Amino acid sequence: MKSLAEQYVCTVCGYNMAGYLPDNCPFCGATKDRFITSQECSARYGVVETPVFHICQVNNEA
Ligand SMILES: [Zn+2]
Repeated sequence: MKSLAEQYVCTVCGYNMAGYLPDNCPFCGATKDRFITSQECSARYGVVETPVFHICQVNNEA
């Protein structure tokens, strides 16, 4: 059980949402299967200390 709000990151635009997962990104309209958790984001992009939502957006070009 998680005690803190999960954060979700849109891999399309980098929009970060804390505590809820909408059906579509409120910013770019991407479907929710485009979202990853901040933990997944960190693992995927090897982020250590930099805010993950920013790094996701930068590295999403690859
Ligand atoms: Zn988005």
